Amino acid sequence: MSSFDDTNYYFRRAAKVMDLGDRIQELLLEPYRELTVNIPLEMDNGEIRTFTGYRIQHNNSRGPMKGGLRYHPQVDVNETKSLASLMTWKTAVVEIPFGGAKGGITVDPSELSDRENERLTRKFIQRIHENIGPMKDIPAPDMNTNPQVMAYIMNEYSKFYGHSPAVVTGKPLDLHGSPGRDEATGRGVMYVTEQALETMGTAISQCSFVVQGFGNVGSHTCRLLAAEGGKILATSDVNGGLYNPEGLDIPALLAYMAQHRTIKGFPGGHSISNEEMLVLRCDVLIPAALGHVLTRDNAKDVQARVVIEAANAPTTPDADEIFDKRGIMVVPDILANAGGVTVSYFEWTQNIQQFTWELEKVNQELRRIMLKAFHTTYKVATEKKLSMRTAAFIVGIGRVGKATVLQGLA
Ligand code: NAD
Repeated sequence: MSSFDDTNYYFRRAAKVMDLGDRIQELLLEPYRELTVNIPLEMDNGEIRTFTGYRIQHNNSRGPMKGGLRYHPQVDVNETKSLASLMTWKTAVVEIPFGGAKGGITVDPSELSDRENERLTRKFIQRIHENIGPMKDIPAPDMNTNPQVMAYIMNEYSKFYGHSPAVVTGKPLDLHGSPGRDEATGRGVMYVTEQALETMGTAISQCSFVVQGFGNVGSHTCRLLAAEGGKILATSDVNGGLYNPEGLDIPALLAYMAQHRTIKGFPGGHSISNEEMLVLRCDVLIPAALGHVLTRDNAKDVQARVVIEAANAPTTPDADEIFDKRGIMVVPDILANAGGVTVSYFEWTQNIQQFTWELEKVNQELRRIMLKAFHTTYKVATEKKLSMRTAAFIVGIGRVGKATVLQGLA
């Protein structure tokens, strides 16, 4: 199955429980707009290379569309459609006034110089600026894009439309960013982990964790879980994993990472492959890197009691069913990693009002929204005896469906 088929499989499974009619399913499944652009770029050595960029806008019934931009060699139209659809359900699960979108460029950014990355980003915006905007579609960071890339986007868009900080979120603090946005996804992951463990009568401080990925989401997740007393047994990046049965020293690992740009070679752990790491004995497994890493082949060997999906679409439908049968709780991406888009919402509102919130208020509001979304979903799951994923889809689809029908079909 393709990535988009996987997302639609989860959608249809929930739609069946909801007894949702074919007409409304048809209205909700397909994206509103799919943009593909070719971006010829002059490389530093004078050569011209053409990259392909995408922006897929899935649904705007509940507000302007919202979703990250990913720079990765595996970016394609299918994956982007799947991620855009997930954004529609995610913004609805946390009840923030946005629809769903996603975009990206098929590129390995580690092969680009900083100047090439900047030119590529600016040319991408030159090609899609008419279709994005503070009241249309608001990009944000995702894999291999960061606050600096968001700053280029704001600047390039503003050349066409005047000063427009609300066109993009995840910007640097010195350029209309929000306090707390950088760590927001990881912080949200920590809050839902705390709640999930509480339903099992335990706590972060009594549990061990394996976190795949040590980028924006993975590193903040590790830092915040460790600060709550959690034991991080293993983490990884694209170069491989690190394992320490006594628990990794996360502050030391962050310092090492800041200096070396990789966790490889950190002296406080043994190396381990990304594949081995996923099946280590632990209480909580947190995929926080790529999609489709938990599959039919390894799901039966996973030894965690809970899987928290910090990455988007890390679990294939086959694996999801295996976890369900094995009684492993999976907190799905559309709930678990919604902290990022929630603080993006705070950033957007601050930009529109030209007003700044304190970090304390951002974190307080983030916690309130994440806990409400977790408990709304958990209630549906327990009352109807469903997985957390199906319950989250039911909550999201219900809200988007109502908004779509209320607006009429004309
Ligand atoms: P990032 O680029 O900051 O970090 C990605 C991490 O994954 C890095 O540590 C990288 O080395 C690692 N990685 C890359 N390829 C790998 C491989 N083949 N095997 C193992 N590790 C690999 O990206 P991010 O923003 O942290 O995003 C990670 C995931 O979280 C993605 O699925 C993204 O869609 C999702 N997400 C991100 C945000 C956000 O706010 N950044 C919000 C919601 C969801």
